[in-house]
Amino acid sequence: MPDLTTAGPPLGTDLLDARLTTVLRHCRDMAPDIRAAGAAIERDPDAIVTLLDLPAVAVLRAAATPQRYQYETPDLDGVTLTGTSCLEWTVVLEAVSYGDPGLVLAGPGPSLSGAAVAALGSEAQCADYFARMAGPTWTFFALTEPNKGSAVLELETRLDRAPDGDGWLLNGAKRFVGNGARAQLGVVFCRRAPGPWGIEAVLADTSDPGFRGELLPTVGLRGARLSHLRFDGVRVAPAQVLGLDRPPSRRGFHGAMTTLLRCRPTIAGMALGVGEAACDYAARQRPHLPAGQRARLEAMRHRIGAVRRLVYEVAADIDAGVVNAHRVGAVKMRAGHVGAEATMLAVDLLGPGSLLEHPWLAKASRDVRGFEYMEGTTNVHRQSIFQGLLKGTFFPERAA
Ligand SMILES: Cc1cc2nc3c(=O)[nH]c(=O)nc-3n(C[C@H](O)[C@H](O)[C@H](O)COP(=O)(O)OP(=O)(O)OC[C@H]3O[C@@H](n4cnc5c(N)ncnc54)[C@H](O)[C@@H]3O)c2cc1C
Repeated sequence: MPDLTTAGPPLGTDLLDARLTTVLRHCRDMAPDIRAAGAAIERDPDAIVTLLDLPAVAVLRAAATPQRYQYETPDLDGVTLTGTSCLEWTVVLEAVSYGDPGLVLAGPGPSLSGAAVAALGSEAQCADYFARMAGPTWTFFALTEPNKGSAVLELETRLDRAPDGDGWLLNGAKRFVGNGARAQLGVVFCRRAPGPWGIEAVLADTSDPGFRGELLPTVGLRGARLSHLRFDGVRVAPAQVLGLDRPPSRRGFHGAMTTLLRCRPTIAGMALGVGEAACDYAARQRPHLPAGQRARLEAMRHRIGAVRRLVYEVAADIDAGVVNAHRVGAVKMRAGHVGAEATMLAVDLLGPGSLLEHPWLAKASRDVRGFEYMEGTTNVHRQSIFQGLLKGTFFPERAA
């Protein structure tokens, strides 16, 4: 039986080239500092403002910023990040989440809203948005609504013509929005007209009159600062509507789906990072586990490795412009489950009272649950998998 605590390349990373292997190793090496930062953020999510000098914060920001807009380019053992690759972003978020996912969610930078701006924004919108990231600036991505969850086609937040004819007014509410009440700007999905092509994505500044954000109490992923947002006649100028020069079919709804698809592998990676960290934690705490329990731990590592390989596959496909939405959702769903199971296995192996005796493990097993909800719940993905199977498009075509 191999030593479970050896730090070789994680299982399922054979698809990574030398460049991404270096990125993974560099980010994994930062784990001790990230874990300490995660504990501080758990105690007080505002502690992030004292942690901005951590190298991981700059790496996270660069991984979500196209290179031409990066105002700092962290050197990862000779590698610089492109900021445009889904696989690269997934590797970074997984490795940083191995340290602590709270830092990923608490930090400043473009994150999901940056993906929406990059996908939809004009050159001027992208330049303005990414220039503000030098701040440091916190951002948000507001899709989920109190009455409609994250059903994009059903959203109720409205973009009404301003009575004076000068642009539009934003009215409605969003909930469970990461960093919504702490951010300076973000993207709000809203409805300008009925039907899917009536959905728009607009840039909103949290200092705009009529914008209100309240923090929601949470027990896991406290760094995410989940918020309830209300928009009461927030004025939106044409320059704030993302991609207004595109046809409606290539704007709001298209942008929401593109962003969600691109971000699902990253959420999957985060769940696996936490799950793998839980396995390592259990192995370190119990170096002399009985053979049966070591076998359970090793089996879990193999499951994580198998799902990791699938996550990297779908992320690489997205980079190559080949997108099978059913599979992306399936892989994200499976990663969320495996990550949660790994934390529960660690709890089991460490024995009764382990959640009280091991505060880090208690935190990890609370945090990991959030990934099931982010970017679509299990039910929604199961439905999509079923549709993919019915259509015969779930499994990728294999060369004969
Ligand atoms: C840590 C965290 C961070 C988040 N960050 C953000 C963020 O930054 N921005 C943002 O917009 N949202 C964010 N969310 C919200 C997240 O996207 C939603 O929680 C998630 O999409 C589910 O929405 P909901 O809870 O409203 O459930 P709903 O979508 O209302 O679903 C409720 C239940 O009904 C089921 N269901 C829904 N539709 C169907 C269907 N068609 N068929 C069968 N069953 C269905 C769901 O599976 C679920 O069990 C975040 C959530 C978490 C936990």
